[in-house]
Amino acid sequence: MTTVYDGHCHVASTHFIPRAFVEDVASNVCGRLGSMGAAPRPDRVAAGMVAQQEDHLADGLVKEMDAAGIDRSVLLVPDFGLRMSGTLEPAEAARRHHEIRLRHPGRFWVYIGVDPRRGPEGVQAFEHMADAYGLDGVKLYPPCGYSPSDPGLYPYYEICAARRLPVLVHTGPTARSLDYEPAHPLRVDKAARDFPRVNFILGHGGLIHVDTCAYLAAYRPNVYLDTGGFASGPSLPSWPEHLNRLFRLGINHKIIFGTDWPLGRLNGLKLLMAEVLDGATVLAGVSRKDRSLLLHENLLRVLAPRSRPVA
Ligand SMILES: [Zn+2]
Repeated sequence: MTTVYDGHCHVASTHFIPRAFVEDVASNVCGRLGSMGAAPRPDRVAAGMVAQQEDHLADGLVKEMDAAGIDRSVLLVPDFGLRMSGTLEPAEAARRHHEIRLRHPGRFWVYIGVDPRRGPEGVQAFEHMADAYGLDGVKLYPPCGYSPSDPGLYPYYEICAARRLPVLVHTGPTARSLDYEPAHPLRVDKAARDFPRVNFILGHGGLIHVDTCAYLAAYRPNVYLDTGGFASGPSLPSWPEHLNRLFRLGINHKIIFGTDWPLGRLNGLKLLMAEVLDGATVLAGVSRKDRSLLLHENLLRVLAPRSRPVA
């Protein structure tokens, strides 16, 4: 049995995902359905989605991971706080994720969200959390209104370089009330060049701006991309074929497998992973070695040595 790690996941909880974000996603879903003749009410769809965000301690997620054969997952905790209200303060979100990790030993890594506009206090708080909880990485959400190469992030990158923490950057579109321009993958390039000791992962890079992400990953030694959201991208009608094409680009040493759970959770992780691992398409023609790179080795390589599980 191959070890499977999910490099892109979230706790399905209204404590960490703002209601406004869910409403934005719901309105896009309604727009799509409406054009096909069905016209569900956006508030009903949003209410249904919010009701699915009650897995505050990740017990449901662990059950899904067990059923799907996922050994361990990265929990991403974006800091939406300066752009959308209703979620916990970063320090409290970090504390709760630490508790989740203690509750489910050996199942999760945690990348905590930061925002360059939180100033020196933000940096101090991050450094404290990184050490107090043994955080495994940083999550950036540039659509909140800043570039991942913003000088305000450099003090965070110094800390990451010293502790060898990876930085996962959301790239591509998102909720409609946020900014798409700062989420272009090339915005990461300056930071990646200035901090060669920090590994940067382009979140969703295997789905959106694939050409750009692929050349960044191929030529910048410290840039990786992930497959987060592959089964729910509206522009990817046939994701098994898409993933298979992606896995034939010659950059499998730079791709980290990830689902972006709880996005598209309706079918469950088990069905999704069965299609990925045992379906005829996704891994067709992908060598054994490349499969282990994609499914776990690349993630282990970007993590700090102390974050790696002891075999
Ligand atoms: Zn995500």
